[in-house]
Amino acid sequence: MSEADCLFCKIADREIPSTVVYESESVLGFNDIRPQAPVHILFMPKRHISGIHEVTARNVGEAGALLLAANEVAREKGLSEAGYRLVVNCKADGGQTVDHLHLHLLGGRRMTWPPG
Ligand code: AMP
Ligand code: ZN
Repeated sequence: MSEADCLFCKIADREIPSTVVYESESVLGFNDIRPQAPVHILFMPKRHISGIHEVTARNVGEAGALLLAANEVAREKGLSEAGYRLVVNCKADGGQTVDHLHLHLLGGRRMTWPPG
């Protein structure tokens, strides 16, 4: 079920190529095209949810599956011991540029705080 003109729906439908590193029934994980860390992977529900603000009791399972996926891939990539960062940007003030819910997994370098 893809939303017309949604970039990440097109990636989920394989209309636009990406480097897929994780796939389950409801989640796709793929490398960010402009990596901000040695590991930068995006996890999204295959079904269109426009952002974290649209998570409800009905679709929280799909949102929660993003955490499980990120945890599993972080372990596979050897990040679990040193740590990593998970980020969800929401709308304009949060810095969201693609309106299809996604979780960033960033790792392989020391992160700073506060974020920009
Ligand atoms: P956000 O700013 O949180 O909405 O994140 C969107 C992310 O999608 C950015 O980090 C972009 O680099 C990334 N991105 C945009 N287009 C693509 C693409 N075609 N394949 C992979 N990542 C992409
Ligand atoms: Zn979408």
